[in-house]
Amino acid sequence: MSQRPVEIVVIGGGVIGCSIAWHLAAMGASVTLLEQGAIASGASGASAGGVRQQGRDLRELPLAIRSIARWENLEDELGADIHYRREGHLTVIEHEADMPAVEASVAAQREVGLDLRFVTGEDLRDLAPGLSASMIAGTYSPNDGHANPILTTHAFAEAARREGAAVRTGTAVTGIRQRGGRVAGVETDAGNIACDHLVLAAGLWSPLLASPLDIELPISAFAPQMIATNPMPVALRQVLGARSRRLSLKQVPSGNYVIGGGWPGDVDLPAGVATPRLESILGSIRDASAVWPELANASVERVWVGVEALAADEVPILGPLPGLENLTVAAGFSGHGFALSPIIGQVIAELIVDGAPSVSIDALGFDRFDGLPVTAAPVGRAG
Ligand SMILES: Cc1cc2nc3c(=O)[nH]c(=O)nc-3n(C[C@H](O)[C@H](O)[C@H](O)COP(=O)(O)OP(=O)(O)OC[C@H]3O[C@@H](n4cnc5c(N)ncnc54)[C@H](O)[C@@H]3O)c2cc1C
Repeated sequence: MSQRPVEIVVIGGGVIGCSIAWHLAAMGASVTLLEQGAIASGASGASAGGVRQQGRDLRELPLAIRSIARWENLEDELGADIHYRREGHLTVIEHEADMPAVEASVAAQREVGLDLRFVTGEDLRDLAPGLSASMIAGTYSPNDGHANPILTTHAFAEAARREGAAVRTGTAVTGIRQRGGRVAGVETDAGNIACDHLVLAAGLWSPLLASPLDIELPISAFAPQMIATNPMPVALRQVLGARSRRLSLKQVPSGNYVIGGGWPGDVDLPAGVATPRLESILGSIRDASAVWPELANASVERVWVGVEALAADEVPILGPLPGLENLTVAAGFSGHGFALSPIIGQVIAELIVDGAPSVSIDALGFDRFDGLPVTAAPVGRAG
């Protein structure tokens, strides 16, 4: 550690802020995490919990690969059962016409170092015997998996506390104080807190906090909808995606199928209310059953809508922000923040404490938007 910061404030008690606080505290920094509500009350509490490398934007893939390496020992490191399962991610293909594009995408991901296999015929059926006969091939990433996002976020927060961090829930940051080109501290609804470094990990709310500093973060709201079925006999080991459908499907340890993939719900941000859409429930079930016919025998137990911080180009914004030398952002994780959370905590802590991260985040800096329009389009996306 070059020069130990006296006090680092992290805004946001989601999976990202909690992971950053834990890593910072474990590196010996003095950390206060401020969360306006409860831990995991934002996107992290609604997440589908997929821990996936395949199909990621190539700028993000090196981080995703390094994150998977961290997931392997995360339960031991955290001292918590977070229901992590590493049984692969399989994206199924049903149209011959998609093959050339799939082959090109597999080659590009392998070049970055991802263990990604093209599977067909009996190999495909052996992997996932319950697949519909109309699935003709798949791309299989054996080290992907899933975990419970609420347990994981709380485990990060607890680990941060054990390392000496102050984790203050029910404390909203209302402003950022600056002096001489530096952040001097934050104003909260429970008083002011001085700091030597500030980490903005407030998810969807990050642009609101950055805007008074004349920093326009290109992040908007997207509200994906999720479905959980009743518990069923365990039959699906991998997380399933589909090349030509909005689908993310897994079976969690309790036997419930969890279905997502980017079918949209509705959100009223000022009212803080997110509501499901009937057509998205029906569309989601149709897509999932077309791939995994056993779902025709399941019933819907729960439907919920979470709200993601969608960056304009759907990859996170990481690193310094202009004008204030002691302000770092980690926001705009779109649909990928849960899988990335262990490595993001690590690289942001390394950046602040050591001055450089062990995995480059240069491609994901705020400066990539220089000269581009700053508004993110609140559109849907395939999972
Ligand atoms: C339905 C759904 C499914 C998803 N599925 C996956 C998946 O399968 N795999 C995956 O990798 N990712 C998935 N994601 C995305 C992932 O969940 C997010 O990228 C991740 O949770 C973002 O974490 P975060 O900490 O940045 O944001 P959040 O969890 O939103 O945390 C930000 C926190 O900041 C707090 N905050 C805001 N303003 C203030 C303030 N002024 N003062 C104090 N606190 C403040 C908020 O209350 C909030 O708790 C999914 C997301 C959704 C919604």
